[in-house]
Amino acid sequence: MLIGDFVPKPMSECNGEEILRELCGHLRFDLDTVESANCIPCRMPYITSMFMPRLRTDRPLPIPRSSKNLAFISQFVEIADDVVFTVEYSVRAAQMAVYEFLSIDRQIPPISRHDKSLQVEFKALVKAFR
Ligand SMILES: Cc1cc2nc3c(=O)[nH]c(=O)nc-3n(C[C@H](O)[C@H](O)[C@H](O)COP(=O)(O)OP(=O)(O)OC[C@H]3O[C@@H](n4cnc5c(N)ncnc54)[C@H](O)[C@@H]3O)c2cc1C
Repeated sequence: MLIGDFVPKPMSECNGEEILRELCGHLRFDLDTVESANCIPCRMPYITSMFMPRLRTDRPLPIPRSSKNLAFISQFVEIADDVVFTVEYSVRAAQMAVYEFLSIDRQIPPISRHDKSLQVEFKALVKAFR
């Protein structure tokens, strides 16, 4: 589709200036007010890997059953009800491993169930019909 003399092209072919322009459009920022910015295109081909469909048994628990000295951390462990692609997820996995093996008596911060929050659900509903 052509809009004026603007020819859309794939993101992978855009330079930094074009990506910044696109971003400003999404955020409704006026590009003309940007005095200077460094925007260096960077491809992250595996960025969605943690969102791939999976079974609960596909990824190890932070401390696999019957493990005495081996634990896993990162986004690719299974923590029920937690949300991947967050720093919180990795921190929680590390806390689970370290607190257990070093017998540290500290509480792991509870998972915020935003998916069960009426306020969040209501906002999502409003957004969906915008
Ligand atoms: C663009 C982007 C935006 C994000 N925004 C947010 C956000 O707003 N809020 C949020 O909560 N999360 C966000 N995240 C997700 C968050 O950054 C990650 O989930 C989190 O950093 C993962 O932490 P980690 O310690 O598990 O892994 P990483 O931070 O990836 O750390 C892994 C480390 O291991 C090193 N490493 C890898 N292989 C080896 C090797 N063989 N030998 C030695 N070292 C190795 C790497 O260099 C890296 O330093 C974002 C991620 C991206 C990419």
